[in-house]
Amino acid sequence: ETAKPSNFLRQVIESDLEQGTYAERRWGGSPGDAEHHAKGMIDPARVRLRFPPEPNGYLHLGHAKSIWLNFSLAEQYGGVCHLRFDDTNPEKEEQEYVDAIREAVHWMGFGTAIADDPAHPGAPNSHQYFASDYFDFMYRAAEYLIGAGLAYVDEQTAEQMRAHRGDFNTPGVDSPFRARTAEENLARFRDMRDGKLADGAAVLRAKIDMASPNINLRDPALYRIRRATHHNTGDKWCIYPMYTFAHPIEDALEHITHSICTLEFEDQRPFYDWLLDRLAEGGLIARPQPRQYEFARLNVTHVVTSKRKLRQLVEEGHVDGWDDPRMPTLAGLRRRGYTPDAIKLFCERSGVTKSGGWTDYAALEAALRETLDPIAVRAMAVLDPVKLVITNWGELMGGDEVLDACSAPVHPHHPDMGHRRFKFGRELWIERTDYEDVPPKGYQRLYPGNKVRLKYGHVIECTGATRDAEGQVTEVQARLVPDTKSGTPGADAIKVKGVITWVGASDAVPCEIRMYERLFVADNPGVGELVEELNPNSLSVSQGYVEPSLADAHSDMPLQFERHGYFVADANAVASGRRVFNRTSSLRDSWGK
Ligand code: ATP
Ligand code: MG
Ligand code: MG
Repeated sequence: ETAKPSNFLRQVIESDLEQGTYAERRWGGSPGDAEHHAKGMIDPARVRLRFPPEPNGYLHLGHAKSIWLNFSLAEQYGGVCHLRFDDTNPEKEEQEYVDAIREAVHWMGFGTAIADDPAHPGAPNSHQYFASDYFDFMYRAAEYLIGAGLAYVDEQTAEQMRAHRGDFNTPGVDSPFRARTAEENLARFRDMRDGKLADGAAVLRAKIDMASPNINLRDPALYRIRRATHHNTGDKWCIYPMYTFAHPIEDALEHITHSICTLEFEDQRPFYDWLLDRLAEGGLIARPQPRQYEFARLNVTHVVTSKRKLRQLVEEGHVDGWDDPRMPTLAGLRRRGYTPDAIKLFCERSGVTKSGGWTDYAALEAALRETLDPIAVRAMAVLDPVKLVITNWGELMGGDEVLDACSAPVHPHHPDMGHRRFKFGRELWIERTDYEDVPPKGYQRLYPGNKVRLKYGHVIECTGATRDAEGQVTEVQARLVPDTKSGTPGADAIKVKGVITWVGASDAVPCEIRMYERLFVADNPGVGELVEELNPNSLSVSQGYVEPSLADAHSDMPLQFERHGYFVADANAVASGRRVFNRTSSLRDSWGK
């Protein structure tokens, strides 16, 4: 294996391992342990990371970076990585998203094992968690803070709270409720929990410093009232913890060592540390606490990486669902024919840094082609068919119905992958663009008087074409040149410049072909009105033919249609018994042209 390039996170982890920062960690160090670590977990002293999506949509390319980063760091250092559903926002979260996220992480090749789920065995070093499983503990932590004089119930209106928070230049103003006693606060917080206050009537806030230059430390909200049914806890709660309160606690209860997030959370780090320091002082969580590290999020040109915007495309019907092959979701990329290896290679190459930037979509396609080329099964396909008739076939072969077997390697560099077989005959399908009455300059394909090779078949000489009343070619005619069959002695005696692909009319399999262009015309979509930036030509559908070897192609098999690019059988179509092929990408870079 080649050495992985270092990055600042690898350096942090290596230094922690060297210094034994977490070496003394044991289960049982915190009250949460007894409740939450009955899942056959391994040594808590190991490097322990997490990927914490909120189940409010499907995962996208940006998430792939985070999945790859956390799971592969854990793998590299013999640690573990938790798939944790950060489900503290009941209105937006759904079981459908939990399932889709799990499926996507699993597809990426990272286990999401849960002890009681034989359907998803996963890797032994990964576990699945829900933030909502910690609601009881979080509630106790909140009561602890209240008791310690570190939190209070604020009953200002949202507007007053906003006005009193101040801004970058102006210190905030203390809430009139800030001076309440711990007893009053505790009673009021229990009223919140018991449903005695209306939604939005009060919040629990940390009592830190309304004049802090870091606005995140100006008494951030910890709990809000929200009567909403939760996908996991149902109607048990009418108060829910805020993300900023919940997240550090989740990390601490799971004994995360390095809590890796994107740069937007840098200003939250002081609160993360404040909270965990206070809870450790109170004996609620174990030391050493997890630490937060930030890296630059992945931004890819031409791609929207925001669940909210992707949801808009789905809900307004601009795409055919979250798994539309034009979507940058992992489900969409998968259906388009992208592979986990291509995505992981792209993530690795995009680097892990502290400063943001844009990665060119072409880099993803390059990684895709590089990883598909060695494995893609080759086949011939005709995307825009026109009939080719070999007018001297019967004469040469002793009958129009006689067929001639041809073969080709499944992969040009892997003889072990075997051969495909298909039949040559009097009638074939070729590409409409492979014929011209009058050849443009440099055109080497079919025109009257020109000879070309039908790949893996024979050399033919074009004699003309028939057109309909509209001038559309309905049939091309040619004569076969005897003794030129590929792979037979003397086949190359006649030199031809053009080689074209084809499928035999006798055994070709009809199919639908879906060609995709970029979903957005803008380089950086989402800056303007998203919908106005959509590319009206992002999908074109045609009826074509593929060679018989693809009659039962399954959707996890990367294909290369010779001359045309990488393709894959559409998973949804396969499931409903239809034959549809999605173009994954062209053979060469055409992005940005
Ligand atoms: P979105 O804004 O699309 O909803 P999010 O960050 O709110 O994304 P989460 O479900 O909270 O979505 O994300 C889970 C994890 O994925 C987080 O740790 C987040 O930092 C990470 N992540 C999300 N987008 C990116 C990105 N573009 N690059 C790297 N990591 C990302
Ligand atoms: Mg988020
Ligand atoms: Mg978000």
